[in-house]
Formats: sequence, structure tokens, C-alpha cells
Amino acid sequence: MISVDQALGKILDRIDVLEAEESPILGCLGQVLAEDIFSRINIPPLHNSAMDGYAVRSADTGGASRQSPRILRVIDTATAGSISKSEVEPGTAIRIMTGAPVPKGADCVVRFEDTDESERQKSSAEIGILTEVEQGLNIRLAGEDITAGSLVLSKGVVIRPAEVGVLASLGCSTVKVIRRPVVAILATGDEVVDIEQPLSEGKIYNSNSYSVAALVLRYGGIPKILGIASDIEDSLLARLRPGLDADVLITSGGVSLGDYDIVREVLAKEGEIVFWRVREKPGKPVVFGIIKAVGKAGGVRNIPLFGLAGNPVSSMLNFELFVRPAILKMMGKKNLTKPTIEAVMENTIENTDGRRVFARVIVEKRGRRYFARLTGPQGSGILTSMALANGLAIVPEDKPGVKEGDLVKVMMLDWNEEVE
Ligand code: AMP
Ligand code: MG
Repeated sequence: MISVDQALGKILDRIDVLEAEESPILGCLGQVLAEDIFSRINIPPLHNSAMDGYAVRSADTGGASRQSPRILRVIDTATAGSISKSEVEPGTAIRIMTGAPVPKGADCVVRFEDTDESERQKSSAEIGILTEVEQGLNIRLAGEDITAGSLVLSKGVVIRPAEVGVLASLGCSTVKVIRRPVVAILATGDEVVDIEQPLSEGKIYNSNSYSVAALVLRYGGIPKILGIASDIEDSLLARLRPGLDADVLITSGGVSLGDYDIVREVLAKEGEIVFWRVREKPGKPVVFGIIKAVGKAGGVRNIPLFGLAGNPVSSMLNFELFVRPAILKMMGKKNLTKPTIEAVMENTIENTDGRRVFARVIVEKRGRRYFARLTGPQGSGILTSMALANGLAIVPEDKPGVKEGDLVKVMMLDWNEEVE
């Protein structure tokens, strides 16, 4: 049986980065930029005021103080969005609003607070300057954020809200990004019932398709739920067919040694099994392979298929360990590793058979250290143990377990890969 690391290596060997496509900027959050973005414009486009105040010549403020204000003649008002036609001559000032272009002749802006405006009538044609002001004060220079012609965002960056804003500031409404993979999800099992249906005796609701679809969304893919196949090969094949245009196929259940565990048989017939079973707990029976389908142009398409173990916790863990990095790689991401921390374990975890154990834990920071405690019973069917957890404590395969007080590595479930 192969290790978690070997399994991931075999998966990533078979996964390629997808193509780029032009996409509206708001749809690109979390995607990787597929082109260098240069600016055609200066931002800001013109020198403009950082304050509400008066645009003046700094020389005119020489010696000004509260006791001896310098009185200037107000010749115009400059507002954001238009350019004042007036020019500031010696002895004059232009009332100016934040963001308004600085008028000709002015070399600084005096804030309202440093004038006697509040003591004057609204109609006053004069203003008293109460402080000396240096050249350039309260002026934002043209191009101080972005200069025309410069490289603003490089190919390969992950688009976050700040990048969306920067793109908008350049007037880009669409951008080239590596596209999101479509991930088709099929549940298997005669006992599994759709959540829209009534539950009869002996049946359970299909939770795996939904937890897996939610994970696909979280990591940037597009889930396509294919429904539920019964434990017959033909049913699996028929249900899988509408997913053959997807970039990834996921099944859950039907990969153990039971009589009805048919996913491997279908894989072997329709493609290739790359591996089956990994030294991990839970989720050992996971299978990975390639389905060979006919592409649109007639050639063979190789579609990676992840046969996740059926137990609800196992499915989610198999996804985090194996599908998540594959999706991220397809999307052109470089960092595929979920952040881990070191925590003091507050319970005992046993590792009886040399697998890598992933225990659901609640991590808390107290002082400078992290502490981790088990969420409760750790059965692979106890999905609420995932709902309670914010981390997975990892017991290495070569350790018989961890004891209370030992340091453990914990994979943080809600921290994203972009965080170093
Ligand atoms: P299997 O490997 O198919 O025997 O499934 C292992 C366990 O996971 C069984 O107890 C199944 O009932 C359960 N299971 C399988 N598929 C699902 C599903 N889609 N949603 C919830 N539980 C499932
Ligand atoms: Mg089953």
C-alpha cells in the first residue's frame, strides 16, 4: 500500500494546468492571472488634492500663524472630476475638494483646519491662512500609485479582492485567467437517497455529493452533481456518462472490498487504475485512475477519476489530501500545501497499523501556543466531527500514536494555501 505522499505524487504527475480564458474580473477571485497587465494610464491621472482646503502658492504662506494670518483672495472652487480654468497667482487661493486636480500655479493645499474659513461668512471672497505650508503638502502626485507603461500585475499572481480593485482602477473589465475545472460528482450506493426524496427504512441521505461539491466550490472549481448510481456496473457507467465532458470525475463509495464495490472494476474497464488504497486513516480504500473518453474532436480524452471512500469523513479527507491539490494545480496555482501549525495535543491518539492518522480537532490559541483537542468520537461515519473541527491533527505513519502533551502537526482546514 502506498503512502499519502506517494499517492499525491502519482496524482500530480497525471494532472495538467488548464487553458486560459478571458473572464469578467469579478468572476476571477482566486484564479491565476494568465497575462502580464501593463497600465496605459497614470493613477492618479493628475496631481490632486489629498484634503479639503485651499490650493495656494507655498511662498504666500510664509510667516503665517494664528496671530498673523496671511489673507488671500479666493478666485474659484475646484471640485473632484473637473479641472479649474483659473490659475493661482501670487496673493490668491482656490478652494479645493479632496480628489480635485490641483489648479495651475498652486504648489500646495492648506487644509480647512489651518484656515479661518469657519469664522467667515460663506460668501467671503477672502481666506486667512493660519500656518506656513511647505511645497507639495497635501498634494497626491500624478502616477504616484501607477505610472503609465508600467507592469502592474504579473502573470501567475492569484487574484484577490485587491487585484480585482487594481484591475478596475486600470479600466480592465475582463482579464485572462486559467479557467476553473468542472468537477463531476457521482454518489454510489443502493442505500443512498437524494436529499429531495423521502427517506425510507434502511436508506440514508446523500451527504457526500454535497460536502464534496462544497469543497470543489471552496477551492475554485465548478461542481456538477451527477446524482446517485446504484451498486451495479451499468448504473455507474450510465450515471457517469453526463460527466465525461468534465475535467475531473469524483465518485464516493463502492471502493472497499465489499461485493458491490464496483468503482475499480469500471475504472479498469474504461481506463486505468493508477493506485488503490493509501496508508491513511480514515479513507484507506481511495482509488485514483484515468477514464478514457472520446473528446469533442474525436480524440481520446483522459479524465482523472477519484474514487473517494464512502464514509462521509473519509470522502472529505480524501478530497482535502488528493482532489484539492489536483484542482489547485489545474488552476495554475503553485502552492498546493494546506497550512499546518504545531499544537500541544490534549488527548491521546493511537495509531495501531502504521497509517497516517488524521484526527479531527479543535485548535485554540492560548498565549503564544496552539492547543488541539479531539472533537469527540472519531469514527469515519461521524460527519459532525468534521463540522466541529477546524483542524486535522496528523499522527505520522511511523509513530504508534501521540500522548497528551505531545506536539502534533495540525492541518488547518480553514486557512488557505496562499497564506505562507
Ligand atoms: P461503501 O464504501 O460504499 O460501502 O460506503 C461506506 C459507507 O459510507 C457506508 O456506510 C455508506 O452508507 C456510506 N456512504 C456511501 N456513500 C454515501 C453518501 N453519498 N452519503 C453518505 N454516506 C455514504
Ligand atoms: Mg456503497
